[in-house]
Amino acid sequence: MPSDPLGPDGTVRLRSYQPLADRMYFSGSCPACERGVTVGIEAAVDLMGSVEATIGQLGRRLVCRGCGGRIGAMQVMADSRTPETREREGRLPETVGVRVRE
Ligand SMILES: [Zn+2]
Repeated sequence: MPSDPLGPDGTVRLRSYQPLADRMYFSGSCPACERGVTVGIEAAVDLMGSVEATIGQLGRRLVCRGCGGRIGAMQVMADSRTPETREREGRLPETVGVRVRE
């Protein structure tokens, strides 16, 4: 039986974003140093180890590579590149500026 699209924390599970992986990605910023951070949708699944993880859980696991601060909240952003550029460069962005807290 498929699970609810919302996880226990009330935010959307990564599984729901997977069909959008070619044109959307997750974006956020470090509250401490204001560094911008990005995580591709498939990269987020890899980081969390499950498509059932939520975007809320993702944000809480992410740590700024610049200062070690907690990121906290991620939002969904549209990949604004043209289809031709996407084709040439592949999915963007890779995981930038963050690591996952153990
Ligand atoms: Zn930071």
